[in-house]
Amino acid sequence: MKNTRSLIVVLSLVSVYVTLSFSQKQLIVENPYRDIKWSSSSAWERHKANFHTHTNLSDGNMAVPAVIDSYYTNGYTILSITDHNNCTWPWTTYGRNPDSLGMIAIPGNEFSSIQHTGNLFTTIPGNPGSSVTTVYNRIVDSNGLAIVHHPGKYSYAASWYVNLFRTYPMLSGIEVFNQGNRYPNDWIKWDSILISTMPQRPVWGYSCDDMHTTAHLFKNYNILFVDTLTEASIRQSMMKGQFYFCYEPGGSGEHKAPSIDSIMVDSQAASITISAKNYTKLYWISGNTVLDSGVTVNCGKYFTEATLIKYIRAKLIGSNGETYTQPFGVDFVDKSVVSAETYRHFQIGCRVKYNNRSLSIEAAAGVKLSSFHLYDIKGRICSNPSVVSDKVIHFATSGLHEGCYLLRGLINGRQYVRTVILINE
Ligand SMILES: [Zn+2]
Repeated sequence: MKNTRSLIVVLSLVSVYVTLSFSQKQLIVENPYRDIKWSSSSAWERHKANFHTHTNLSDGNMAVPAVIDSYYTNGYTILSITDHNNCTWPWTTYGRNPDSLGMIAIPGNEFSSIQHTGNLFTTIPGNPGSSVTTVYNRIVDSNGLAIVHHPGKYSYAASWYVNLFRTYPMLSGIEVFNQGNRYPNDWIKWDSILISTMPQRPVWGYSCDDMHTTAHLFKNYNILFVDTLTEASIRQSMMKGQFYFCYEPGGSGEHKAPSIDSIMVDSQAASITISAKNYTKLYWISGNTVLDSGVTVNCGKYFTEATLIKYIRAKLIGSNGETYTQPFGVDFVDKSVVSAETYRHFQIGCRVKYNNRSLSIEAAAGVKLSSFHLYDIKGRICSNPSVVSDKVIHFATSGLHEGCYLLRGLINGRQYVRTVILINE
């Protein structure tokens, strides 16, 4: 419905300083794939995507129509053309209509005067500036979604990226594979970043062709899960990590890297099980270490309250390539405040709801809320609460633009911050 907003509560708690005084803790696994329906009767659709593509309007050597046709004829339904400092848009200017191709075209631009960054879902022309702050604030202001491109090319430390991800909720993730496996430091950096950000701030992994010539085609792809294919559902999938990614050195144009059929988390057992095809090995990795192999991993075997690295991810190897899941957050949470609902979103001590244009936060048993405000990404208060009690706080959101916000306040006197995203439907 027009003007109806819905709130996507992104998993990324920017930081949680809530320490709970109870001693009974339970191990929980935060599953980015939890909402996906895998069964055949109501299964979500899966779509192949490339989010980093050049044409001869920057330094690529193929014309726009030839680029679109190549991806279309090889089964891609989602494509973003990301020329350097140039938004090649709309496709109809170049004689291609995404609607008649059954594709979703995502407007894009690779900002290239800083650590290269893909800006998607907006049509910012040219190059907004030469500092990360200027460029990223411009992306925030235009409600874009961003991907850090080939971080392995640069000498920035992992902490530099950690700071970016904690500052900018619109940053979805990084390229873990780029143009084949051009910069192996990409995936080394991914783990280095996840070690610091998980489980509070997931950083999703991407595999992108960074296509400049035909030799770069189809070696890297992302498989997104959506209930139905729309620009909004793609964006949601990218924010929630509802996709896996593949590196296929031969670039067949098919999906010859291992293909994942389902990913299930048993919350009682704290185990993760993957069902997949075309693989010979399945490894479970945390930090730089392979913890286990096989279709099921029991997280309780490897994680204790003292474990410092709080995520696990899977890598599947087949004869034609490799497939990677997103990271699963792993943490110990107090049993007495974890209801089924809070359990889902790492909402320690509270849950956040959106209903009838009103954002509300509700306290769990034994928890008191205070001093809550809604901030925009630049740190300005944009909605004051109408406090009902220390158990429930409401915010009006009808006057707010689409975009990322921070909900900040005190839970039992301890600071609590989480990211929320308002989108139009
Ligand atoms: Zn590029």
